Amino acid sequence: MQVRLPDGSIRNYDEVVTPGQIAKEISEGLWRNAAGAIVNGQLWDLERPISFDCELKIVKVDEPEAAEIYRHTMSHIMAQAVTRIYGEDKVRLGIGPTIENGFYYDFDIEGVKITEDDLSKIEEEMKKIIKEDYKIERFELPKEEAIEFMKKKGQRYKVELIEEIPDKNVSFYKQGEFVDLCRGPHLPSTGKVKHFKLLSVSGAYWRGNEKNPMLQRIYGTAFSKKEDLDNYLRLLEEARKRDHRKLGPQLELFFINTDVAAGMPIFLPYGMTILKELMNLSRLLHEKYGYKEVGTPLIMNEKLWRQSGHWDHYKNNMYFTEKEEVTYAVKPMNCPGHILIYKNKPVSYKDLPIRLFEFGRVHRYERGGVLHGLLRVRTFTQDDAHIFCREDQVVSEVTNVVKFINELYSVFGFTYRATLSTMPEDHMGDEATWEKATEALKNALEEMKVPYVVAEGEGAFYGPKIDFHVRDVIGREWQCATIQVDFQMPERFEITYKDADGNEKRPVMIHRALYGSIERFFGILIEHYAGAFPTWLAPVQAVILPVSEKYVNFAREVSQVLSKENIRVELDDRNETLGYRIRENQMKKVPYMIIVGEKEKETGRISVRTREGKDLHDIALEDFIRTIKEEISSRSNTLKY
Ligand SMILES: [Zn+2]
Ligand SMILES: [Zn+2]
Repeated sequence: MQVRLPDGSIRNYDEVVTPGQIAKEISEGLWRNAAGAIVNGQLWDLERPISFDCELKIVKVDEPEAAEIYRHTMSHIMAQAVTRIYGEDKVRLGIGPTIENGFYYDFDIEGVKITEDDLSKIEEEMKKIIKEDYKIERFELPKEEAIEFMKKKGQRYKVELIEEIPDKNVSFYKQGEFVDLCRGPHLPSTGKVKHFKLLSVSGAYWRGNEKNPMLQRIYGTAFSKKEDLDNYLRLLEEARKRDHRKLGPQLELFFINTDVAAGMPIFLPYGMTILKELMNLSRLLHEKYGYKEVGTPLIMNEKLWRQSGHWDHYKNNMYFTEKEEVTYAVKPMNCPGHILIYKNKPVSYKDLPIRLFEFGRVHRYERGGVLHGLLRVRTFTQDDAHIFCREDQVVSEVTNVVKFINELYSVFGFTYRATLSTMPEDHMGDEATWEKATEALKNALEEMKVPYVVAEGEGAFYGPKIDFHVRDVIGREWQCATIQVDFQMPERFEITYKDADGNEKRPVMIHRALYGSIERFFGILIEHYAGAFPTWLAPVQAVILPVSEKYVNFAREVSQVLSKENIRVELDDRNETLGYRIRENQMKKVPYMIIVGEKEKETGRISVRTREGKDLHDIALEDFIRTIKEEISSRSNTLKY
């Protein structure tokens, strides 16, 4: 049997060998630092035998490929610690996967509710297990025996999981007294783990289904380098301060009533002001880039959705309603509505491209467990458009959309990267057509010099797509815009145009949304700006603070002048000290506070305090108005004062 190493060298073995043996042969140091291996592209335990020809790479603990092995082992160590603390007879284990930057485990613990205060106790026990440095050993059982084994331990969730495994044999991992059902791989011993932290605990339904029992999910993170753990914890702390689910209600932007409208945000006047500004900007740019705005119904007869293919591919995510024995679907997408508009009158090749744009409100069912503030919802508004064009126009149209995206995102100071997603398993249409569409998107990305990666098989069921991921001020990435080329839907709806030669031809349809969901984009902006919106977006742009009751009338005059100039202004004449009111408006992140007292009343000039704490005195009111208006109209990201 031959084992090929990354340097191209080949080693021969008679029967079986483990990656650990090979590592030891190469060097004692490599063996000591090894987390596992990659065998024919698959992660592999260091001590799991190999008996076939393969390509093999030893993965060291501090290499990025080891993170999965490393964090997965952490979740077992956490489960072992929880079992030790609360007792084997009380703890039933759910699942314990790795996630981006960390891991979690779901527990059902009889009579115990874990709180954040318990996390340090669990961490202490985990440190003991790491210090005790148990060997982690893999073994297999035939399925029936595996079920018996877990039944005896009272692990009913594990029994349920094993029953669904199609394989004959099931693998387990053992460390000290603890055994867990697992596909692996794992570190060779618990002592290899160094830097970790438990982060939070929350409820999670077994398998994400509300009808199942609620388990307790503990989240943790782990890194092989202390520096990486520290950086990540700092980022989390920064993100926590910016959490839009906290800032939203606190700044009176929106709230969610989970009792009657889970996943359906309710917008307050301040929040609506920001949404309107985002829509105004969007409308302006759509006009500039040659789109026509339209409006289509929220509910339409189910037959439209059968024709579009949504019925076959998307039904589980749709809402339905019935009246007089007719079933209607609440639209999950705007495309079929725009096709109805296209079909409304005959189209000639000279009319193309036709770009139809709509602020389309859609509803899509999501499981309760995945809902997340404004970021993951059940209803949202897309800045949605469909471009109908000739095949020879696809590249230039997609290029034009990318230009539009550049202009829109630069307003917020966002940079981005793109993902090109190709044909998924569940798809409509033939492969040659898919190939053509994918090529068109690739060409446009290359022409616009957009950095991108290819995500194989991640496309929508009707065509390939480009997703744009914006990077926020603390370096997190968010998926927003998407562009999809679609040859299928024009086919399904049999839409045509009359070409120069007089023949009827099929147009191509491009789906695109740039904010994506306006509500989601709003949520991202709340976190990006930490609630301190630039003046053009700020719900209140200036607040007038009379130093005492004596100056309320003058303050009101100033307020009216600003209001006439279309500046969003409020008067704060509450019977509180000036210091208190300044602090409160700073908390509300109002860009400018205008303070008026005796001197201001006499001279007609004003004193301004910015939310950043800068004090400016003796400013002519007209100058202030001119400056703030310029700041607003240029949609500046920073305050002018
Ligand atoms: Zn595992
Ligand atoms: Zn569409």
